[in-house]
Amino acid sequence: EPAGDTQTTGGELRTADGVPILLSININDPAEIDALDPATAGVGLMRSEFSITSVADAANEERQLAIYRRVLEQAGDRPVTIRMLDIGGDKPLAGLEDLPALASGLRGIRLLLARPEIARVQARALLRAAVFGRLSVMLPMVTFPDEIDRMRELFREEAEKLGRRALLHRMPPIGMMVEVPAAALMLDTFGAAAFFSFGTNDLTQYLAASARDDTDADAGKAAPAVLRLIAQAVKLTAGKPVSICGDMAGNPSYLPGLLAAGLRHFSVAPARRPAIRSAIIGLNADGTRAAGE
Ligand code: PEP
Ligand code: MG
Repeated sequence: EPAGDTQTTGGELRTADGVPILLSININDPAEIDALDPATAGVGLMRSEFSITSVADAANEERQLAIYRRVLEQAGDRPVTIRMLDIGGDKPLAGLEDLPALASGLRGIRLLLARPEIARVQARALLRAAVFGRLSVMLPMVTFPDEIDRMRELFREEAEKLGRRALLHRMPPIGMMVEVPAAALMLDTFGAAAFFSFGTNDLTQYLAASARDDTDADAGKAAPAVLRLIAQAVKLTAGKPVSICGDMAGNPSYLPGLLAAGLRHFSVAPARRPAIRSAIIGLNADGTRAAGE
């Protein structure tokens, strides 16, 4: 049975009124796994595009396996969510610059499905790595449910090709980033997604027609709309594990709104963890400030 990403052996963390909260870390460079201290629930997001930076890396199954294996082994019995390559748009891959539609909408899972030779290598490396820990696989920039269906099918095919029947039973849960407004609005239609994680960096950009790395002031102006969309989308998750791994999760000023939206699992950059941890302790689960705070 899939491990999902809500169970943990990491440190206990509760809101002021006693509701359990999971606090995970995002890692870019795999060496950041060393920041996984005992109070951390797990890795809520590993951005694999920081490990795979060229077409040669994308084709190198053994190298990818070694990277994923190291992260999973270091995490031990704590869950690790590795996101498949999120390239295209503002995220380049050396050697793939000539792809015609790269500057427009061909990024994330759409690019992976358009270049399945890249996705297949990563799927094989992830399937082989899954035996070394509690792996979940996350798909970037998912917009429509059929994209998940197609990627799951690709994983099934690669698992069969790997040939060891045991691997089929170790198929990692496959979930999705919620970072495209069209997906957030329709979350109840993503039956094949095992879990959800909100990516507020892209969600803000696409919701507010803003630049991705906009000033804090502009991101702040868009926040009420983003929070309302998240609150609506959380209601559509049908009890599946749901988390947030976008930068909003690492900013204590958004924590009341995110708690009020129903989120109970936050994944933040290692440097943001202490501030978010102490902010959670001072708030009730409905986002209100605890008495005496
Ligand atoms: C996001 O979009 O919020 C996210 C977590 O993904 P990335 O920052 O890698 O685009
Ligand atoms: Mg994103």
